[in-house]
Amino acid sequence: MNNLFVYCEIEDGIVADVSLELLTKGRSLANTLGCKMEAVAIGHKLDSIGKQVFPYGVDVLHVFDDKRLAPYTSLPHTSILVKLFGEEKPQIALMGATSIGRDLGPRVSSALGSGLTADCTSLEIGDHEEKKANKVYKDLLYQIRPAFGGNIVATIINPDCRPQMATVREGVMKKEVVDANYKGEEKKHDISKFVSDADFVVSVIDRQMEKSKTNIKGSPIIVAGGYGVGSKENFQLLYDLAAVIGGEVGGSRAAVDAGYLEHERQIGQTGVTVRPKLYIACGISGQIQHIAGMQESSIIISVNNDPNAPINTIADYVITGSVEEVLPKMIKYYKQNTK
Ligand SMILES: Cc1cc2nc3c(=O)[nH]c(=O)nc-3n(C[C@H](O)[C@H](O)[C@H](O)COP(=O)(O)OP(=O)(O)OC[C@H]3O[C@@H](n4cnc5c(N)ncnc54)[C@H](O)[C@@H]3O)c2cc1C
Repeated sequence: MNNLFVYCEIEDGIVADVSLELLTKGRSLANTLGCKMEAVAIGHKLDSIGKQVFPYGVDVLHVFDDKRLAPYTSLPHTSILVKLFGEEKPQIALMGATSIGRDLGPRVSSALGSGLTADCTSLEIGDHEEKKANKVYKDLLYQIRPAFGGNIVATIINPDCRPQMATVREGVMKKEVVDANYKGEEKKHDISKFVSDADFVVSVIDRQMEKSKTNIKGSPIIVAGGYGVGSKENFQLLYDLAAVIGGEVGGSRAAVDAGYLEHERQIGQTGVTVRPKLYIACGISGQIQHIAGMQESSIIISVNNDPNAPINTIADYVITGSVEEVLPKMIKYYKQNTK
């Protein structure tokens, strides 16, 4: 049986969240297909990877451990996946739409002639009928993503070539352990059979890593502002509210474009995807490109002076009024009630 594979991104021996999210999704797709889920770990000092990934329902973990394989460089990781996929013939291969996945995915898919859908927001299994050829394809991977500037949601299929490859951005899928004691098999590979010395032509001499200034993806509360906030100065109201209720500040692309806040705080299709417990949208109209990045929030409160703002249709609570008027009251009453 051709299985489903997930490439795991690893930094300092820790599997990236996006990979754990893909393992969660991969497990449920593999259950639907009745196949195994296999994970690939490439790097150095990978002894603890099994412990990290097996609880997500990994049946087989392929380990490629060598000092030269970390940090990531394009050629050796590509060679390993191309050879491994050539041998194992997965039906599906998933990776994060990160800077690594965006470099690695197209290299692997073009070497295998398989095609790839980038930045999927949903993955499902389904059939496809090719009416002209009178042919039905069973159990294809539906690779779902916004297209044409977010105006349509496209379902892309790859009926004939394998593996069906897709990348997914961090935060789009949920991360969930299936069984803390899930038993998988670990296969340690001899890397000399997969990589040539020429693949190591690039060596990393020095790395400068800048830590993100915000923790917007991990914050349980987000106070987000849009163009309706009106100015950079008015955004201080959002920072004040976030400080009082223990949240982070984010915003729409229109707010970022207007210079009200930094790009790393942008939420949406071309920003980050978040799923906090509470999302307070202030002066945000709720265009599809913004909603794509926050609709999975548990509770949404909209503060907008237009009672018919589109975001109100997905909000759990709507406060009709201006940001300048409503936010100081929210701060005041929250402080009063938590004294
Ligand atoms: C390819 C592509 C990718 C995109 N990616 C993203 C993305 O990642 N994230 C994103 O957000 N957008 C993205 N956009 C842009 C998106 O289409 C919208 O233009 C943007 O989300 C609108 O931002 P906004 O809601 O802040 O502004 P507007 O649409 O201008 O809405 C402002 C809102 O504020 C309200 N308002 C005005 N004054 C006040 C006040 N004083 N108090 C309270 N409410 C007030 C108004 O009623 C209105 O609802 C993308 C667009 C494209 C084409």
